[in-house]
Amino acid sequence: MKRAVVIGGGPAGLKAAHVLQREGVSVTLLEADQVLGGLASSFDVQGTRIERYYHFICRGDDDLVETLHGLGLGHKLRWVSSRMAYFVDGTLYPFLTPLELLRPGALANAVAGHRSAEPGHQALLERLGKRPLLELDMRLGEASGALAAVPLLRLAAAAVTEVATFAEWGLERR
Ligand SMILES: Cc1cc2nc3c(=O)[nH]c(=O)nc-3n(C[C@H](O)[C@H](O)[C@H](O)COP(=O)(O)OP(=O)(O)OC[C@H]3O[C@@H](n4cnc5c(N)ncnc54)[C@H](O)[C@@H]3O)c2cc1C
Repeated sequence: MKRAVVIGGGPAGLKAAHVLQREGVSVTLLEADQVLGGLASSFDVQGTRIERYYHFICRGDDDLVETLHGLGLGHKLRWVSSRMAYFVDGTLYPFLTPLELLRPGALANAVAGHRSAEPGHQALLERLGKRPLLELDMRLGEASGALAAVPLLRLAAAAVTEVATFAEWGLERR
């Protein structure tokens, strides 16, 4: 019997181990953490399982959906329609379907929070002509990437709205 060692019990390692085992290979899975699941693992908060990071699965994630069905977990998937929009000058613009994203001007008011170290993200921003606020070689998820830039936006807004003018300080401008 062939033998294999898989290092890491995150989604990739678990899938690799599962496929190998299905092929008749004797697999040893090594995981450094106390729990399996890697970034997609969960932890207990007063009896409720909470994800370590937030995750969603789209209907088009065929491999993952097939894997879950193969493991007999498909019935646990719940498909809910997601609603996403952005709000500019009193108007809510839908921002979910490819057509909505491609609508002329849809991204005109969008600010790129950060630029990921991922080449795909860099190419996308270049194509969109967006200059990111942060470029720190981080690999963040969509939401955490956006949140990382929020303090900077708050700072910019405060500089405009909260810093006293020369007139308010009673100083003369020369
Ligand atoms: C904030 C955030 C949001 C995300 N949202 C989504 C989402 O919505 N949808 C989606 O599909 N993906 C999402 N992802 C990405 C997803 O979590 C990762 O793609 C996925 O976890 C990668 O799996 P992996 O097995 O390659 O690595 P990991 O999940 O990082 O697992 C690696 C495992 O290897 C173990 N390990 C490392 N070194 C060793 C060693 N030397 N010996 C033994 N064990 C070791 C680690 O302890 C860990 O358990 C998100 C990620 C983040 C951070």
